[in-house]
Amino acid sequence: MNNFRSPVADQRFVIHQVLDAPRALADLPPHADTGAEIIDAILEEGGRFCDEVIAPLYQPGDAGCTFKDGEVTAPAGFKEAYLAFALAGWSGATAPPEEGGQGLPYVVDAALKEQINGANMPWGNFPLLGHGAIEALRQQGQDWQKQVFLKPLVEGIWTGTMCLTEPHCGTDLGLLKTKAEPVGDDRYAISGQKIFITAGEHDFTDNIIHLVLARLPDAPAGVRGISLFVVPKFKVDRDGSVGERNAVWCGSIEHKMGLHGSATCVMNFDGAEGYLVGQPHKGLSAMFIMMNSARLGVGIQGLGLTERAWQNALAYANDRLQMRAPEGARYPERPADPLIVHPDIRRMLLTCRAFAEGGRVLALFACLHEDLAAHATSDEQRQQADTVVGFLTPIVKGLLTEAGVECAYHAQQVFGGHGYIAEWGMEQLARDVRITTLYEGTTQIQALDLIGRKTLLANGAGLKLMLTRIGEFCRLEAENPAVIDLLPALADRAEQWRKLTAGIGAKAADDPALAPAIAYDYLFYSGYVLLAWCWAQRVAAAERSELPAAFKRAQRETANFYFQRLLPRCDQHAAIIANGAAPVTALSDEDIGASL
Ligand SMILES: Cc1cc2nc3c(=O)[nH]c(=O)nc-3n(C[C@H](O)[C@H](O)[C@H](O)COP(=O)(O)OP(=O)(O)OC[C@H]3O[C@@H](n4cnc5c(N)ncnc54)[C@H](O)[C@@H]3O)c2cc1C
Repeated sequence: MNNFRSPVADQRFVIHQVLDAPRALADLPPHADTGAEIIDAILEEGGRFCDEVIAPLYQPGDAGCTFKDGEVTAPAGFKEAYLAFALAGWSGATAPPEEGGQGLPYVVDAALKEQINGANMPWGNFPLLGHGAIEALRQQGQDWQKQVFLKPLVEGIWTGTMCLTEPHCGTDLGLLKTKAEPVGDDRYAISGQKIFITAGEHDFTDNIIHLVLARLPDAPAGVRGISLFVVPKFKVDRDGSVGERNAVWCGSIEHKMGLHGSATCVMNFDGAEGYLVGQPHKGLSAMFIMMNSARLGVGIQGLGLTERAWQNALAYANDRLQMRAPEGARYPERPADPLIVHPDIRRMLLTCRAFAEGGRVLALFACLHEDLAAHATSDEQRQQADTVVGFLTPIVKGLLTEAGVECAYHAQQVFGGHGYIAEWGMEQLARDVRITTLYEGTTQIQALDLIGRKTLLANGAGLKLMLTRIGEFCRLEAENPAVIDLLPALADRAEQWRKLTAGIGAKAADDPALAPAIAYDYLFYSGYVLLAWCWAQRVAAAERSELPAAFKRAQRETANFYFQRLLPRCDQHAAIIANGAAPVTALSDEDIGASL
């Protein structure tokens, strides 16, 4: 009952017409030959795989994974789909060919990830975290570790995990207790328990490679005493030969609100053999390599589910007949008008469309800058692109996942009572999307990262680059009749964004509670301004194109909807920021719960 079609045509519109990505990629040596035709063929082929192979498994997969005697079995069809995915080379999409990958640009991979998550996010979680493991090993692994682990991970013959969370700590990893004892010969015995480990155990592949944070015996307390280890399910020698079973076991799987098709495992390390990745006590930087890649990936999960919500709500609103339009029967030949005639149904539909299509521009823009950060030919370009990616990552993660939750709610509402009934798949969507605001750093952690590390501590470097981009856009399009009505509001919001940030910066040193107290509102203020820019770009690109008139009208009117109905949310966030920390800090910890 619940359907999904990969939004290939819109992805192509964004990549080619809005972002002009092929031109930017042509200047990057590894992607100089990745022309527009290759990008289109990949999007088409990825879309076909997602629509035909994994989308049909989404609703049946809600039956969930099973756990018996330490073994995890995924829902029917998941393993076969994974093997087909790996065989087709999708798991190593961005890895260089010498590692067995396809060497695709990150921006194209991001579009593929959106297709996967829209089609079947729980299934997509099996290959998802392998990317973080690959990045960490590539950047910090010893030579033998790269030789032994990278190729099978890239080819999807093995999968990877990220083992960070423990029962008493998720956000504050400085508290983690898992131990690593040296046992000679550059080997360590890893002991402790990790919880909530995505794809910690399954029967898809012969080996699973765990990237585990643990403490060495002489480790200082806190985050400066964390080291990273690679711990395979089956031991692997330096020559690549696979040996005996390692002492790492899945103790159980979690019973969750949603995401049932994804195995979330309790992993027990009972003196498991592990090998140090990077320097002792420097695991935090390796952890950030894994997390940054995963954070953009989770933001794209929110986007994929927003697109799924929008597609299903639109189809239902066109099909279901209830009551008449406000001005009288619009379809008199039918017993009632379809839901889509009702203004408040349209509000919910347009909200979904605005977040899906605007969010797509934002996510793909960020991922194009991952390509520039990795491969631009000048140091300055690479540095600037890296700053942009770092600045946008918490916004993509925070805004697009919270938008996913909001849109799943709207789409469910469009279905009325049927939205609450399992058969229609909307309640599954609402349950599944909820995790995206929680894992890989909650929305609160994204907000703190944005205002703290990425803005105040960086002297606003990322913000300045984005304001420059917005300013350039406003200047270039100043005479363009298609966007002329949007530009004043965009320019005003951008200027207010600059002033708000300067105001926070001026007070933050004297008031340590200020930045954390307004971080959430700052994240959303920033996100809404960026989406306004994304929507103005969509309209400008559509008008310049030869695309159908109906599409251009839809772009203009959805942009108007965004500017008039969603962008004003900035006013509320700005007012809250102006009110400072006191409204949330005035009560003591005891008094906040004081009651009669
Ligand atoms: C389905 C699922 C899959 C997961 N997969 C993985 C995985 O593969 N690997 C892995 O290592 N972990 C995984 N996790 C763990 C996940 O990343 C953590 O649950 C998450 O980071 C939050 O940690 P916590 O649950 O311990 O919450 P806590 O850290 O206890 O936080 C509780 C609340 O306090 C807030 N909070 C904490 N500190 C602050 C602060 N300074 N300011 C404001 N608010 C704050 C948080 O935002 C949150 O709302 C998964 C979790 C789930 C549910």
